[in-house]
Amino acid sequence: MSDQLLTALKHYFGYDQFRSGQQQVMEQALQGRDVFVLMPTGAGKSLCYQLPALLTPGVTLVISPLIALMQDQVMALQNNGIAAAFLNSTLTPDEQRSCEQRLRRGEFRLLYLAPERLAQEDFWSLLTAIQQRQGIPRLVVDEAHCISEWGHDFRPDYRQLSQVRQRLGSLPVTALTATATERVQRDIEQQLELRDPFCWVSSFNRPNLYYGVQDKTPETDIQIIQCIRNLSSGTAIIYAGSRAGVEKLTQKLTAHGIQALPYHAGLTAEERQHNQTQFIRDQAQVMVATLAFGMGINKPDVRLVIHYDLPKNLESYYQESGRAGRDGLEAQCLLFYSHADRNKVEFWIQQKADPQEQRIARQQLCQVIDYATTRLCRRQIILNYFSDQLQEDNCRNCDNCCYPVALEDRTIEAQKFLSCVYRCQERYGMNHIINVLRGSSDERVIKAKHDHLSTYGIGSDLSSVAWKNLGRFLLQQGFLQETNDGYSILTLTEKSWEVLRGIRTLEAPPIQPLHSDKLEKSNKKQQAISIQLSAAQQQLYQHLRTLRRQVADARSIPPYIIFSDRTLLEMAQRQPSHLNEFAQLHGVGDRKLEDYGGMFLKAIDDFLQRPSPAISSQSTGIPKVTILSTPKDGLALPPHPQVSATNGLTASTKRSMDLSVPPGGRDNQDQSTLSSSINSTHPTNSIKLNPTWLETLTLHQQGLSVDAIANKRHLSKDTIYKHLTELLASEAEVNLDDLVSPARQRQIFRVIFQQKSYGSLTALREALGEDYSYEEIRLVRAALFGQP
Ligand code: ADP
Ligand code: ZN
Repeated sequence: MSDQLLTALKHYFGYDQFRSGQQQVMEQALQGRDVFVLMPTGAGKSLCYQLPALLTPGVTLVISPLIALMQDQVMALQNNGIAAAFLNSTLTPDEQRSCEQRLRRGEFRLLYLAPERLAQEDFWSLLTAIQQRQGIPRLVVDEAHCISEWGHDFRPDYRQLSQVRQRLGSLPVTALTATATERVQRDIEQQLELRDPFCWVSSFNRPNLYYGVQDKTPETDIQIIQCIRNLSSGTAIIYAGSRAGVEKLTQKLTAHGIQALPYHAGLTAEERQHNQTQFIRDQAQVMVATLAFGMGINKPDVRLVIHYDLPKNLESYYQESGRAGRDGLEAQCLLFYSHADRNKVEFWIQQKADPQEQRIARQQLCQVIDYATTRLCRRQIILNYFSDQLQEDNCRNCDNCCYPVALEDRTIEAQKFLSCVYRCQERYGMNHIINVLRGSSDERVIKAKHDHLSTYGIGSDLSSVAWKNLGRFLLQQGFLQETNDGYSILTLTEKSWEVLRGIRTLEAPPIQPLHSDKLEKSNKKQQAISIQLSAAQQQLYQHLRTLRRQVADARSIPPYIIFSDRTLLEMAQRQPSHLNEFAQLHGVGDRKLEDYGGMFLKAIDDFLQRPSPAISSQSTGIPKVTILSTPKDGLALPPHPQVSATNGLTASTKRSMDLSVPPGGRDNQDQSTLSSSINSTHPTNSIKLNPTWLETLTLHQQGLSVDAIANKRHLSKDTIYKHLTELLASEAEVNLDDLVSPARQRQIFRVIFQQKSYGSLTALREALGEDYSYEEIRLVRAALFGQP
């Protein structure tokens, strides 16, 4: 059977090998067994039912919840010469009638349906007729987690699916999903009444995705622009938390000559649809979107997904970042993180009325923060979230694994921390422990009489941020644990006692992060497919991309439906001169060979002979097009002058720029790979600080009051407050508790929230009363929103 499957794979889809799990699933399906498939996005689930459908007589029914995905699949199948159709609400009555007639004549092998169809009684007569004439060999349920209320995307219509089996006799079922906890898996099996199913559960690992986190600083936008310029091909999605954020960033990118479009709830449905289509068709390189964007986006060549703000939880992060690299080629997932963002989310959580909701939200936030601040492998953290594991400690494709930071002996600090947890009777969270360690006069500390503890004030030599980093590290390493009830109370473990008794030392990251140039790039194993092109081949590749886009535009289909990037890369590298060589390329099946082989072969021939050839139109109705000799898609552009001219870049920006240029400079670059070059994305605490602020900061950190700093520096108090406000907005280590008491901070938070405005200082002051100074309000506002 495996030979037959392989031959069909090449014939219909142009692939030479199965991906992990595909063959096993197909073999079981062909034997008529129920099948459950859990594979991550991009793993190739569709093929698991499409190929068996082509090898079995009759019409396979595919239930799919998203109209856009359904259409995309059918378009891709048709382009491979496979007779597939869909029935959904987008068809006109005439189109629907025609589709039904063709179905009755037995012209299709796969029929995609929205679940709502099953509620329409007259639709069942069509299904019964198909079953009697051609037979229905199998029911496929795509996105099967939609059937479960425990899933994140419950669709009540999916509940009707069990009817299909009851009404059409005992059809075998294939259920597929990319997201399912064990509970959802059980639910799918029960709801669909799967009988002794063959279950294939792949790892959640996406080895071709690089995970990185960077500090969000005033230079972040410039960094993002640089990242996009460094993309040698493909597109990017940037997720921002708010509409205003989306608009601002889109404008900025556009002003820098990047084709970017916005996507958010403030646009009309038509505008959103239009922008999405532009993006899918490669007419815009970047989509800047709120988190609502992406369901139903099947674009395989997204090379970069940036989270400009914090994701809601780790599961959402996995799904959203997972829209990168569906084609299996290298892609990057970057998160920009700031403490101010964390404060913002914490602030909104505080406003939730339901305490249970608050607790859950806080727990989810903690997991995201853990991911963002960890020094451990980020992939490992994501996989752990899904109760999955990586075999090795080092994934070699995340910032922490690629740019490891040397550890230092932190046993003494760990002992201080752990014994403080013990003295507080393991009944408090991280913030309280740190307050006690640093000798804070916070009212909760005083009320609990924790200022009498032997550990009170023993950690005043370190900033609260430094303690927090250490605390998180202890948690990640199992030297501490945190309750799961949303209260996040710290408790000790076996390992904590070993440290406390001095029989175990603790190695932790340095308190002051190392400067970037001390970091060595580790040997990064290429786990994803990476195709190396010479400069000349790169040019050919760009020509082929332009041709692909023109052909796609003429046919009103997305370019990736014609050929994937990988096919074009192979084409540019191997430069086939005959159809039989062309047929060997990845993703070239018999139909694509016939439809596009001649056209692309001619483009290659012409390009290799003349630098600026014209391509004649083919019999396929493609207009005559001329391919430009200059690459249009931003390939290997030199650094943007505005970026390279900037002096005030942070160390982390500099690092990512430096590493993106190979030794000897970009001009000497004769090889380039498809992988984009945001190589260094390790978080650092580097902030571009004005020297005079820095002086104020140093004195503040030495414990001097505002008055004392003003005296010492011969500056006015106003000026010192201004410095501190700016410093807070830049997330420098200012201890806000020293400047505004926690109780007053809370009152200011409350009023800011009630007014739903952080713009008008006068309005805030009026609401707070004269007892509150402008300076205090400014400080709290800066800490909360990261803006002075
Ligand atoms: P999923 O549904 O799991 O997210 P898809 O079925 O959309 O993934 O497949 C992702 C991409 O991988 C598609 O472009 C598909 O054509 C390609 N693909 C699937 N199977 C193979 C294979 N055996 N070899 C090469 N490419 C494959
Ligand atoms: Zn890693």
